[in-house]
Amino acid sequence: MSNPSNADRSAGFDLPGVCSPRAPLANLKPYSGSFPAGKTIMAANESPYNLSEGLRDKIARAVRGFDFNRYPDPLATDLRAQIADNYQLKPEQVLLGNGGDELLLDMMIAWGGKGRSILQFMPTFTMYGIYAQTFETAVISLLRDPQTYAIDIDLALETLRAQQPSICLLCNPNNPSGQVTPVADICRLIEASDALFVVDEAYAEFSGTSMLPYLDRYPNLVILRTFSKAYSLAGLRLGYLMASPAIIEMIARVRMPYSVNSFSQMVGSLLLDNKEEFDQACADIMRERDWLYDVLQDMAGVKVWPSSANYLLFQVEKAAEVWERLLYVHDICIRHFKDAPGLDNCLRVTVGTSQENIAFTAALRESIAYVNLPDDFFCGS
Ligand code: PMP
Repeated sequence: MSNPSNADRSAGFDLPGVCSPRAPLANLKPYSGSFPAGKTIMAANESPYNLSEGLRDKIARAVRGFDFNRYPDPLATDLRAQIADNYQLKPEQVLLGNGGDELLLDMMIAWGGKGRSILQFMPTFTMYGIYAQTFETAVISLLRDPQTYAIDIDLALETLRAQQPSICLLCNPNNPSGQVTPVADICRLIEASDALFVVDEAYAEFSGTSMLPYLDRYPNLVILRTFSKAYSLAGLRLGYLMASPAIIEMIARVRMPYSVNSFSQMVGSLLLDNKEEFDQACADIMRERDWLYDVLQDMAGVKVWPSSANYLLFQVEKAAEVWERLLYVHDICIRHFKDAPGLDNCLRVTVGTSQENIAFTAALRESIAYVNLPDDFFCGS
């Protein structure tokens, strides 16, 4: 019998005495998104606000009596019921995960695989394609309009009908471009096939729009949410899905039993008990976003896209140089997309505190002016 690892030599792994991992790993790179110390980080779409002192005190008190020696409740029963209650759903329609990322992976385990495909609308959240690739799921990518980043709905409908993907992933608002797809268009897309239709609403709290009212109407609709953005909890890793009980049950079959630790469950529950604090934070972030948008729109050499999320995508000439100057001279770290398709010379800034936003706009103005100085500017006598 041939060694299965021989067929997988393309995985790019060569350690004598150890058989090869699966071939699809060849094109992947470990995710290493840590940020340089001492910089203002406006790159990862986190909330700029830490949890309030009042909430941190409550957490500190709860920690003293915590059963660290016990396994967590696998399905996070209390938090699940609390989320369901919030949205008038049944608890069986909710599933918690170790961040939205884990749930995307779980959906790929359950609905992806060899001989299956996903449909996505580029540019979008890169993890969709990476998880698909990991599970040998073909990736169909339709390009968004290069001027507006809108989806070509007719082409999407045609593709859904002709290619019958197992999963369609729509990021709404879209990361990194920021705009929402109109609800009526999303409904048409959901109705076009029996694909698991995942609307990634990681940033929905900043947009005032959601597909939640349509969960009852569409059996194939799945909504993904996270505590990482609007709820200031990126460090604890907490996300959730909302869908029909039958879909949730299938995804629960493949999930890691204890991936959502009991500390995160406890904190998540506490945050929902104090939801008004986060509603206020979201309102502040949206106000700051709109201020930032106005300033960028008036800035020479900048093209900025309107955003319904907590970040703004903009285009400048010499984006790589501008990004470097922001980082190394002004100590501000934003996101640069390098050669990503559809994001030529684009940068993305996460909305910060009002002080950070003021500092960022001044730094950006200086950086653009600096990188556009004529070549002979420093060669005077
Ligand atoms: N979806 C989108 C569009 C995102 O931008 C992110 C985080 N960057 C996630 C899902 C996953 O979020 P988390 O794992 O922190 O819940």
